[in-house]
Amino acid sequence: MDKKIVMFYPYVNERAVELVAETLRSRWIGEGPKVRKFEDALCKKFGFPYTVALNSGTSALRLALAMTGVGPKDEVITTAMTCTATNTPILEQFATPVFADVQYHTGNIDPNDIEHRITRRTKAIMCVHWAGYPCDMNEILDIAARHNLTVIEDGAHALGASYNGGPIGSISHFTMFSLQAIKQLTTGDGGLLTVLTEEHYDEARRRRWFGIDRRKRRVRLDGYAPWPQTEVGFKYHMNDISASIGLGNLEDIDWIIARRHEIVARYRHALVDVPGVRLFIREADRTSGDWLFTMHVERRGDFCRMMRDKGVEVSVCHIRNDEHPIFGGRRDDLPNLDRYEQTHISIPLHNHLTDEDVEYVIECIRGGW
Ligand SMILES: *Cc1c(COP(=O)(O)O)cnc(C)c1O
Repeated sequence: MDKKIVMFYPYVNERAVELVAETLRSRWIGEGPKVRKFEDALCKKFGFPYTVALNSGTSALRLALAMTGVGPKDEVITTAMTCTATNTPILEQFATPVFADVQYHTGNIDPNDIEHRITRRTKAIMCVHWAGYPCDMNEILDIAARHNLTVIEDGAHALGASYNGGPIGSISHFTMFSLQAIKQLTTGDGGLLTVLTEEHYDEARRRRWFGIDRRKRRVRLDGYAPWPQTEVGFKYHMNDISASIGLGNLEDIDWIIARRHEIVARYRHALVDVPGVRLFIREADRTSGDWLFTMHVERRGDFCRMMRDKGVEVSVCHIRNDEHPIFGGRRDDLPNLDRYEQTHISIPLHNHLTDEDVEYVIECIRGGW
């Protein structure tokens, strides 16, 4: 079999290579001017109010939980249908994830299954925009407002997505983006926390680096730069090497996202009438970041075997998190997820796919299984 179409392929342009070399040859490779420049460029490009660059998306979620005051015995309502990295930060804060059901036709958390799970211990609602398609944010924010809860969005799939005309990353108090190797925009590894207020921005900047504001302290005569540490922070900042990769790749971001939209439009057009395929829904009030192309298929085992035999990778990408023992074992009150996990599958979507590759994938599926 010589045909091989992979699920994921990192996008790194020549500009990123040049900028990294430049940074490595400079005096400053830690957190410095490149990180600042990257953050400013992201705010401008995507319309984020404030952006704090970190070493991973997982770190961004942990920082958001810590800033929300989530601690031992607190509960966070979340989705099980996601990367384990969505929910491990809840455990890192010694809190308990409470899983709400998903919508079968989007893979996103179902707002109708949240409210009855709220208790006195609930502090936050976490949602994941599966494949980059935004959750029902109006409904989620309404529930949060009624119960005085904080909303934290896991936007790892959703860079470039919008909801009601505004960018994801400008809606809730906290939104995380991942810049891990295979995400739309990569810095090798990295993450962003976008926030809405200057207070949160200052706090996030301090707490990504031990609780010290690097910009505000001044070096003393004896060489030490004092800062009264009054809060516990992390070692979560991005460095200038990663930021250089990001600044290079960011120059192509319009094309990166537009090309993904184009492939998704082609898939949806060509697969809508295929027997045994059910496409996810798309509503006019939001646009997807199109990180994954997920759909439902009948007889998934047969589908996967057929695609693999024809040299096309397909993947469920993640399994429901409650299956992992650390999250307490499989729940029996998530009926939509029970159905979803049997039939969902993702097919290749990345910026190294040629038009010919896309047509080949379509041809394989239209041939049946
Ligand atoms: C990639 C991903 C993460 C983790 O991001 P990192 O940058 O690897 O820490 C979290 N949640 C989801 C949904 C992801 O896809």
